[in-house]
Amino acid sequence: MRALVALLLASVAAPTLAAPDLAMVARITDEAMNRGEVVETAAWLSDRIGPRLTNSPGMRTAERWTQDKFKGWGLANVRTEGFDFGRGWSIERASVVMQSPRQLRMRTLPVAWTPATPTGGITAPVVVAPMSKPRHFAEWAGKLKGKIVAVSLPRVPSDATKPAFKRLDDKAIGELDEYQQPVTAPDDGDGWFKFIQFGKQLDEFLAKEGAVGWVRMSYRDNGLLHGEGYQHRDTPKLPGLELTAEDYRRLARLAKQGEVVLTIDSQVKFDDSDPNGYNVLADIPGSDAKAGYVMAGAHLDSWVAADGAADNGAGSAVVMEAARILAALKVKPKRTIRFALWSGEEQGLYGSANYIERHFASRPANPDPIKARLSYDFKLGQYPIEKKADYNLLAAYFNMDNGGGKFRGIYAEGNFAAVPILQDWLSPFASMGASTVVASPTGGTDHEFMQAIGLPAFQFIQDPLDYETTVHHSSVDTFDHLRPQDLRQASVILASLLWEAANADKPLPAKPLPTKPKMTDPFRYEDPDKKD
Ligand SMILES: [Zn+2]
Repeated sequence: MRALVALLLASVAAPTLAAPDLAMVARITDEAMNRGEVVETAAWLSDRIGPRLTNSPGMRTAERWTQDKFKGWGLANVRTEGFDFGRGWSIERASVVMQSPRQLRMRTLPVAWTPATPTGGITAPVVVAPMSKPRHFAEWAGKLKGKIVAVSLPRVPSDATKPAFKRLDDKAIGELDEYQQPVTAPDDGDGWFKFIQFGKQLDEFLAKEGAVGWVRMSYRDNGLLHGEGYQHRDTPKLPGLELTAEDYRRLARLAKQGEVVLTIDSQVKFDDSDPNGYNVLADIPGSDAKAGYVMAGAHLDSWVAADGAADNGAGSAVVMEAARILAALKVKPKRTIRFALWSGEEQGLYGSANYIERHFASRPANPDPIKARLSYDFKLGQYPIEKKADYNLLAAYFNMDNGGGKFRGIYAEGNFAAVPILQDWLSPFASMGASTVVASPTGGTDHEFMQAIGLPAFQFIQDPLDYETTVHHSSVDTFDHLRPQDLRQASVILASLLWEAANADKPLPAKPLPTKPKMTDPFRYEDPDKKD
């Protein structure tokens, strides 16, 4: 009788929309907290392997090492998928020394994919010639022969009034939890296109004018360097180096008063042994092949200024740890759980875009042949989208790429139908501070192009720590800026969400396959300055 009552009660207390598997939450938490390896994984990627520029020797090492780890943990189908990217490039050593008006060693970093100087460097006088648009070239034509050109405007320092390190408080989370309706047509990538094209145009102009090299100013103060460069397809003609903001401003002040002579020495190496970038993939096979698969991903590549710890060793380590946890628990999910470590993210999401075009859907090429050679960004405005085999198989994708801060919730990316389900799946983690689901979109990383074709692809809200102010792409992106407890928390939540998505009755709701959107505000006039 009592058993019957219990049975009746259980059926009355009908399961909620997507009641989380609480027994599995407990096992995942135990494995992560008591036998976790995420901290060691993040340290290996950052301290031991170091910078992982796409197709550089460091990235090749990381591609091999991560596959070995996946295999060692018992993942299935550990493999790579290659895509056309271009040359590898790495820094051996570099220096900039001011020879006059006084001897001074400046802090410097070669700009990615610029060529080397001759051994011993180039010594030449400096011209400060700030140029940021092709129309600025005319002013400097005929004045740059034999010179090292300082190409940045020596902008004045601004007061750093905001805290460098922060965690989100309730107010900040609440501000995120308000959906901002898009008010303009989707970005056509024109600003980004002009930016990367300008790098090429500037190099061609300087070379034609007979300049011998260039220096630019770091975009952050306090000695930070970055070294991003976007000419991986077409090697620039001239060596280019970044100087710290402080060194650059001093140089610019001295140049107002008289001649400044620099020696720039950039010893960098190209690697043409294999033009392919590689995504690393690994699976926990599901029991029902027809049910499709769920995925977690993070980009394994980094920029060159430091060790790529927060961007994105942290995300890579958390994705790997979710794989390790679920493999260690010997789970048998309904859907396959796939783990992806992307390459080529930093130059325009090349790796994840290739996965999309190969497995999910294709879009027509951009009709402009120059744009067609560049990243998938310039395909975003192209329709129709043609579905491929895996389009209807992807039940959920979770991305981590907002530094090393703990999870505070998830962006539902305008997929309103997914909000209540994600809320249920996150509900066990309220006391870990991670239960907020916001409908707002986020961009700039590997879930973005999946979202753009309607797939249920999401990115986590994370505590910012010192990511945006200091660490992102900078010369201090080292293990010091990660927090072990944050990485463990993120691993627990990622593993748990993957488990829920892999076993849910239905895939997460997807948006309809997008077609070309019409202008949101048909009565708006274009700002003529926008095209400048
Ligand atoms: Zn990143």
